[in-house]
Amino acid sequence: MTVTLNLSDLKNPSTRRSLSDLSLAVAKSKKIVVVTGAGISCSCGIPDFRSSDGLYALVKEQYPDVVLKGRDLFDASLFRDAKLTAVFYTFIAQLKKSIDSALPAPTHHFIKILDTKKKLLRSYTQNIDGLEARVGLLGTSSQEAKHLGQGKTKIRTSDVRNVQLHGDIHRVRCMSCSAEYPYTIENLEIFKEGTPPDCPECLTRSEARAARSARPIRVGSLRPAVVLYDEPHPLGDFIGSIQSADLARKPDLLIIMGTSLKVHGFKKLVKEFAKTIHTPAGSSSSAKPRVGRVIFVNKTPPPAEWLDIIDYHVEGETDTWVNKVVEDWKKMRPSDWEVQQTLVATDGDVTLGNKFKTIKNIPAPRMKGKRKSEQLWELHYIHI
Ligand SMILES: [Zn+2]
Repeated sequence: MTVTLNLSDLKNPSTRRSLSDLSLAVAKSKKIVVVTGAGISCSCGIPDFRSSDGLYALVKEQYPDVVLKGRDLFDASLFRDAKLTAVFYTFIAQLKKSIDSALPAPTHHFIKILDTKKKLLRSYTQNIDGLEARVGLLGTSSQEAKHLGQGKTKIRTSDVRNVQLHGDIHRVRCMSCSAEYPYTIENLEIFKEGTPPDCPECLTRSEARAARSARPIRVGSLRPAVVLYDEPHPLGDFIGSIQSADLARKPDLLIIMGTSLKVHGFKKLVKEFAKTIHTPAGSSSSAKPRVGRVIFVNKTPPPAEWLDIIDYHVEGETDTWVNKVVEDWKKMRPSDWEVQQTLVATDGDVTLGNKFKTIKNIPAPRMKGKRKSEQLWELHYIHI
């Protein structure tokens, strides 16, 4: 049964203790899977575009006669309707503009911290804003990762740190030949008018054919490389292989943040990870019924079907929780936060604790006015 811990209830000793336990669990885990949704980007000023708000109002100004709900704009069937397709392009252009001026939130930085501390097995996100890439987490939609999916580059699957389950608003894809490109300023201007740009790849091929008097081919149009409802992910196989590899590595903690857990495919993925985490390693007759933990951090409670799956519901903003975890973690395990550094000090200037070990000393350069005994010590910080 899910235990609910309210982040605004820190005066309650039992809540405080339980939250500290969770912070320690994060600090101790070695293979954390993080799954996220729109809630982690709300504090970045990115509008919650699946519900009606400012962005819709903007689009409505341009298309006063179109009546639509948020979901209609993210359903693959929209391409069957020319007017709806135009609204979609305008909407995505507006959304991309507001995302471009947003900054990553503490929650994005937290995922990067987990990665830097070698605790992140993988991040999976429903978000298309690409803010994970902005904190340095290589995404599946990046050019490098796409080549990896096709076996063309030397980077390893493990270099992909963030799986973009719904694609990436910063990329465009040809609807005819599937060529992909980063979204340009020119694209933005064209999409804003409700029309798609032509595909450069198709254009080149068509011109080459025209030059040799061959029959010209149809030039495809570019569309935002986001994955709509009821649409297969173009990198589905690649993502599937990443997920299988992660399940096989037996993650020890699942952190679900900022999602209402309602999208079908996403629910399935989260349930598979939760099941692995709750299955004891080794034999099924193990005395320990549960290993690992499933933590859900969200403003609203999980739907009822999750109550047997989620161990803890941390009620509140994800940024508030991650800040608390990092604060607790620094207090509980300060050694995790000591950075490897090289100190250059003159002899006798520094009191060395037992955490410092002298690797080598370098004779002092001959300098005027320095005492002969003076030496420069190069110290490497060693964690003992
Ligand atoms: Zn094309």
